[in-house]
Amino acid sequence: MRKFLFAFMVGLLVSAALSAQEKSEVASEPAMQYTPSLDVNAMDKSADPCVDFYQYSCGGWKKTNPIPPDETSWSVYAKLYEDNLNFLRSILEEAARNPQRDAVAQKIGDFYGACMDESRVEQRGLSAVQPDLDAIAQLQSTQQITPLLTRLQFTYGRTILFDQGSTQDPDNSEQQIAALDRGGLGLPDRDYYLKEDAKSKETRQRYLEHVAKVFALMGEAPESAKQDAATVMRIETILAKAQLPRVDRRDPYKLKHKMNLADLERLAPAIRWAVYYQKLHYPGFQIVNVAEPEYFKQVSKELASEPLANWKRYLRFHVVDSSSPYLSSKFVDENFDFYRQYLRGAKEQQARWKRCVEWTDRDLGEALGQVYVKKVFPPELKASTLDMVRGIEDAMAERIRELDWMSPETKQQALTKLAAVRNKIGYPDKWRDYSSVVIARDDFTGDVERAAEFERRRDINKVGQPVDHGEWDMSPPTVNAYYNDEMNDINFPAGVLQPPLYDAKMDDAPNYGDTGGTIGHELTHGFDDEGSQFDAHGNLRNWWTKADRAKFDTRTKCVQDQYAQYVAIDDIHINSKLTLGEDVADLGGEILAYMAWKDATKDKQLQSIDGLTPDQRFFVGFAQWACSNDRDEDLRVRASTDPHSPPQYRVNGVVVNMSEFSKAFSCKVGQPMVKPEDKVCRVW
Ligand SMILES: [Zn+2]
Repeated sequence: MRKFLFAFMVGLLVSAALSAQEKSEVASEPAMQYTPSLDVNAMDKSADPCVDFYQYSCGGWKKTNPIPPDETSWSVYAKLYEDNLNFLRSILEEAARNPQRDAVAQKIGDFYGACMDESRVEQRGLSAVQPDLDAIAQLQSTQQITPLLTRLQFTYGRTILFDQGSTQDPDNSEQQIAALDRGGLGLPDRDYYLKEDAKSKETRQRYLEHVAKVFALMGEAPESAKQDAATVMRIETILAKAQLPRVDRRDPYKLKHKMNLADLERLAPAIRWAVYYQKLHYPGFQIVNVAEPEYFKQVSKELASEPLANWKRYLRFHVVDSSSPYLSSKFVDENFDFYRQYLRGAKEQQARWKRCVEWTDRDLGEALGQVYVKKVFPPELKASTLDMVRGIEDAMAERIRELDWMSPETKQQALTKLAAVRNKIGYPDKWRDYSSVVIARDDFTGDVERAAEFERRRDINKVGQPVDHGEWDMSPPTVNAYYNDEMNDINFPAGVLQPPLYDAKMDDAPNYGDTGGTIGHELTHGFDDEGSQFDAHGNLRNWWTKADRAKFDTRTKCVQDQYAQYVAIDDIHINSKLTLGEDVADLGGEILAYMAWKDATKDKQLQSIDGLTPDQRFFVGFAQWACSNDRDEDLRVRASTDPHSPPQYRVNGVVVNMSEFSKAFSCKVGQPMVKPEDKVCRVW
């Protein structure tokens, strides 16, 4: 995925600086704010583009866009997302107010209205999860944990102990099979439990305090809360040790372990799988893919050896911790204090309306999305962005044909895969039907629970069914895009095709530099170190000759070595094995965008605008997608969890490999933004 920020990424409080015209628009019909795709005021012209192109393109933006106190980082993407939230808020408030509503408006309006009814949420305190806590208290043996898990995992998107659902069969991508994956931790990654540096130790200490506070909020005395926290930490550390490092999870073969139920029972006998699947009403199935068998082995061992009383502590904590954002304010505050403030550096909690808009989008995204696209994504926009996608795909075909390092056989396979890529633009052709989800205006936690149940059920029911290629993993208002290896499709929600990223009022240069680059990025994912292992149908199958693969690996290694030199924060370098796919996609994407732009404008007389040549506008347009300010805390979390490099390297790390760039700005070899020819990395 490109430019994936974070699930809880959002923007600042309502912009104080609406122009008079914008104000009147808000009063009548809600409209998105307009920001141009290339903004010369966002540049720092005192910087030398050949020394630090990111600073040259984004220096002005960085100065005038400090991180809002409720945010963990701030960027062009986050700002657009913030504009989206404001816009969606007006849609939801209207839907919540208006009694003459259609079924869709009623659903989203009631969900949002229930969420905003903070006094009712406050009154309820912990009661929404009390039945789960009672059920845990009543456990008589560890044998009984399995049937209880089916209930605890089913709500609030919890992955207590492990995650379950459906997935495409890696060997037959048209078929859905059952899937099991790891889960069970409260910190963002296994490494947090295992690293011995001072910062990691401090984080573990703070996490222990957080767990103890959650127990205290449930009513425990301080001393026993502390002991219980130590137990939770000990169990999680055992689980963390059995998990694969993130880098290993980028190898799809390391996640492919298909087995039948009998194999699974042998692998993890302490989990009563027959009971588990029966209680979850799984459709009958032959095969389940267990992404991390070693992890399940360990869970089983722990279930057999850890005393029941300790499991009760572990389960109680995870039930309440995962539900905390939806409970009364003391739980919300503690959740914020640890996860957003301590771990990521936010200074303030987000306004409730923002969280409510986000949750509506998460839980009823294709209902909210229907209203959203009607207002912001007219057919002309869909047509023009689809044109651009096709132009980028043509450029990719040309690139493949021209590659001097690849044999004709592998080229043919690559072209076949490229031709099979499905383009999904804006929103799904068929909307998800939420009519069976009961949404009650006076029951927010119940709404969240029922919406999560609907999603889980939908996911489980796919087992044994053919794949639905029309399905989307992101809602239409999402400001992000993705490529899916097993679907072999590229997906661009309407939210990412808005100004300043795609700007119908602007000339082609910045649009190709920015959105063209995003399209090229997603397309290149099909051919990065990971995606290139899947074929045209999305099956995990090698389509490379041995010699070509070796040459490909040498080329990606060039990118990996380049990014390994960059510092993410303090003395932490980029883990460039983790970011390799994204870095390769960033570079490939921009090369394709440049080619497609040249082709689309070959008959036009392009002019300089605002003192920038057309080529300079292309590159500044590209760089300005990435303008951002980051907090140290957030950079630290991302250094171990985010497969994307920090923003400045996503710009400077690309242009150093493009002679088109150095030509555009007359940069010379020896300057920081120009690599000597023999050091230039090019994969696609
Ligand atoms: Zn990506």
